[in-house]
Order: sequence, then C-alpha cells, then structure tokens
Amino acid sequence: MTTLVIGGAGYIGSHVTRLLADRGQDVVVVDDLSTGFRSRLGEVPLVEIDVTRTGAAEELAGVMRERSVSAVIHFAAHKQVGESVANPEMYWRDNIAGLANVLDGAAQAGVRDIVFSSSAAVYGMPDVDLVQEDLTPEPINPYGASKLVGEWMLKDAERAHGMRTVGLRYFNVAGAGWPELADTLVMNLVPIVLDALDRGDRPKVFGDDYDTPDGTCIRDYVHVLDLAEAHIAALDYLKRDTREHRVFNVGTGTGSSVLDVINAIADATGTEINPEIVERRPGDPAKLVCSTDRIREELSWKSEHTLAEIVQSAVDARRQRD
Ligand code: UDP
Repeated sequence: MTTLVIGGAGYIGSHVTRLLADRGQDVVVVDDLSTGFRSRLGEVPLVEIDVTRTGAAEELAGVMRERSVSAVIHFAAHKQVGESVANPEMYWRDNIAGLANVLDGAAQAGVRDIVFSSSAAVYGMPDVDLVQEDLTPEPINPYGASKLVGEWMLKDAERAHGMRTVGLRYFNVAGAGWPELADTLVMNLVPIVLDALDRGDRPKVFGDDYDTPDGTCIRDYVHVLDLAEAHIAALDYLKRDTREHRVFNVGTGTGSSVLDVINAIADATGTEINPEIVERRPGDPAKLVCSTDRIREELSWKSEHTLAEIVQSAVDARRQRD
C-alpha cells in the first residue's frame, strides 16, 4: 500500500516523503514544481500535476489507482499570509479548488485516509495562554480562512464518501532535517534573520511593546523533522481509529520570543546581532503557543527538538548550501 504525498517536493512535504522512503514505505509524490524541487525527492517517483486545474481530480484518481494508494497527505497550497491579504482570490481559487480536486480524486479511487496541512492561522488572534483545538477558530486573513474551510471540506468528504481525515494545525515550523531539504522561500523569522545577516543587514523586530516578558511576540517553534513525524503518527492513527474528522495542533507547547530566536541565532552563528526594533506588524497576536495535550494523548506524538537545535539545523543547512 502506497502513500501519496501531494506537494511532496516542497519544504515540509519533502521531509515527510524522505522519512517514509527511509523507512521502506512505498511513497509517490505529486507536485507541479511551482515552488518545489525534484532534487529533494531522491529515488521517489514524481508525477507532475497541478492540482488546481480542471481535470486534476481524474488525473489524481488515475495515479491513486495505478499506484495502489491507500493514504494521501495533502500539502500543495499557497502559504503566505501577506500574499493572501493582497490577493485573496488566488487563495480561494487555488487552495480550495486544489483540495476539492484531491478529495474528488480520492473518492473516485476509493482512497480512505487523508491527512491535511492546516495551520495555527485558523485561530486568528486568540487571547489565551495555550491554544487548544476546541477554541472557536476565527481566522483574520484569507490564508487562515482557506485552511479552516479546508477542514470543513474534510468533514463533508468523510460524510459523503466514508473517508477518514485528520487536519494538522502547524505552529511555527523551522529548521531542516537534511540540508538539501531546507526551506528556500524566505518568509519566516528564522530564514529572514539568517538572510539579513548574510547581507550584512540588521534583522528587524516587529514591535517590542507587546504584553510579553521582553515585549516581543511569542510563538511556538517546531522542528520540521518533528512535524514530519507527526504526519506519520497521523497516518497510523487513521488506520486504527474510527472517530470522525479530528484536528490536532502540532507544536512544542513552549513559547519563544522574537528576541529568544535572535539570541539562539547569535549563538548558533557565533555572531553578535544588533536587531532593529521597528513598527508592529498588523495582525500579529502577542502570543501563540500550542496546547499539546490532544496530540500527545491521541497520536502519542511529542516534539523532540529544542529551539537551539531548530536554529542550528537551519544554520548548518545554509552553510552546506553556500
Ligand atoms: N518577525 C519579526 N521580524 C521579521 C519576521 C518576523 O519580528 O523579520 C516576528 C513576527 O512579528 C512574529 C514572529 O516573528 O511575531 C514570527 O513571525 P513569522 O512570520 O515567522 O510567523 P507567524 O507567527 O506570523 O506565522
């Protein structure tokens, strides 16, 4: 039985693909290579399909039948908050249509188990210490809204087709399990700071007047390898559990401030960093940290890597690339 990883040439998808392949499992990747790279896949077979196109459902069903696919992990989507605010139609059209085609294809091919990349962005600006899954989601941008709609679509597909589905709500993913799989889209704090240092610029801190111990925003940074393991735990869960659609937060349960991250980068690179404090970025919650109770209890998953290890892996990957 084969696992189909859609968007498997991307940053997170390629880590999941590599783990599955290294464990001797049959895996096939669908990707349109718009932001992914074939070189991340090693020997794993790639079928190039743009899942948003008309007819993609039939093409996907064909791949699923041909390769005896029993489970699908769906990553392929746009994932930049700012871009989604500027161009919401692209997010509605591509993220929603892409998932609709994936679910349609899986229904046609009789595939039962689906794991979906969701995001902590579904929560919006929650004013709580730890974010639990039963908090009412209130996304504040089209990216987060497209992920929430995606979760609803999974529920509908379960009812209509007897599927079994899980949504994983990622917190702040960073690091690299293998240097060649490192993130190349520089849009999150860790790679943005490393890029600024490479250019000889001062990294920017978006606001230091939040109601947090050092005044900068707190997030929950999770190592991409730990996140990849969570997908494998989700696949195992779908095989053994019969409950309807379930969402799980994926994070460490520990918060780190922007300055904590910058200090960790200073340690890992052996440089002194003198960040520039600039205006707050609109839409940033002061604190977003994951409650890990549900995923620990129901998937038996917990993160293994610390912030220092996350940052070190990102720094090492960059050194090997350069
Ligand atoms: N951030 C920052 N400077 C940057 C990029 C990000 O201070 O150049 C802050 C941002 O305001 C947030 C945290 O770092 O508090 C993480 O931001 P990121 O965009 O990586 O992830 P988000 O939490 O928005 O999903």
